[in-house]
Amino acid sequence: MAVRNIFYLYTPEKTKAKVLDLSKYTKQLSNLFSTSENILLICHINPDGDAVGSQLALYHYLTSRGKKVEMLSPNYLQEFLKWMDGSERINIFIKDRAVCRSIISASDLIVLLDFNQSNRMGEAEQYVLASKATKVLIDHHLDPSSIADIIISDTSVCATSELVHRIVTEINGVQFLNKPYAEALYVGIITDTGNFEHGSYSSETFRVVADLFDAGIVKERILNLIYNNFSSDRLRLQGYALNQKMVLLPEYHTAYIILTRSELKMYNHVKGDTEGFVNMPLSIKGIIFTALFIEKDGFIKLSFRSKGTFPTNEFAAMYFNGGGHLNASGGEYYDTMENTVAHFLNMLNENKEKFVENF
Ligand code: 5GP
Ligand code: MN
Repeated sequence: MAVRNIFYLYTPEKTKAKVLDLSKYTKQLSNLFSTSENILLICHINPDGDAVGSQLALYHYLTSRGKKVEMLSPNYLQEFLKWMDGSERINIFIKDRAVCRSIISASDLIVLLDFNQSNRMGEAEQYVLASKATKVLIDHHLDPSSIADIIISDTSVCATSELVHRIVTEINGVQFLNKPYAEALYVGIITDTGNFEHGSYSSETFRVVADLFDAGIVKERILNLIYNNFSSDRLRLQGYALNQKMVLLPEYHTAYIILTRSELKMYNHVKGDTEGFVNMPLSIKGIIFTALFIEKDGFIKLSFRSKGTFPTNEFAAMYFNGGGHLNASGGEYYDTMENTVAHFLNMLNENKEKFVENF
């Protein structure tokens, strides 16, 4: 099996060392799992399939080792992820603040999954940062900040879920495989790659996927639960977004879609309904950059996608308080929709030559 050695360990002294042997750190991690009494797994705000998938998979693994494990998400799960085994056990910070705070303070080990900046923990951030627990970050986003005692970051994997399986397999000697674990990882991998359409999946990914198939996952079941389980309103909203709301800017090789709260309400929107909309205009010839603007309570949530080399994460970080991957990122802008769009258009213009360069 080809071994990729792109793991980094960040010590509390913030020294960065390239680690050539994952097993050294998984041994340390395994010891931490053994010696910790109360383990907390936390994913990022607006958790996607990979955030929830990697969290649930680690939960199933650790509980199979007899560990006491709690899970926390900063906010609510998207509807299309709620069928996942164990998802009902995820504590939602903005729903049960007091319970979540006491879980955080009772934890002696906190594992942070699928994010690289502490503000991705939303309201839970300050309590996690204040906690004396040992913290471990497992992630695949570029340039993780030093928010944990141990950081296992591999930006070459397609999903944190892929990395979790490599770690668990490394720790366990033999592969740990039960169906809820395998399903959770498969959800993480397909949602972060658009069912193997984009993202940095590799031959290694398929070795992981082979293990998941060996564990008895039924891919049609998972595909149907993730992609074919929406309301008719959601499909109509998609049609409306593409037909009425998509704006093309050929001079920037860009397309964007704006959806306001009242429009979402018109189509009885539930959390997760707009997932994937941002990708659709990329199928247009000549379009290399797309943006989706969703009106939230007091701010605008942005999603960005690109094909090729245009770095959406830099654009998101520079202008929209965000980040992510090269081809998929997001951010937030605390202003009206009108001003947010005006800012976006100005920034497009400022970067005009980049769209031509990357086309
Ligand atoms: P989505 O567009 O699906 O919400 O997010 C795509 C990717 O962008 C996510 O995997 C996540 O890594 C990143 N992302 C989305 N929103 C934010 C944000 O507000 N801040 C940061 N740092 N990253 C984000
Ligand atoms: Mn991910």
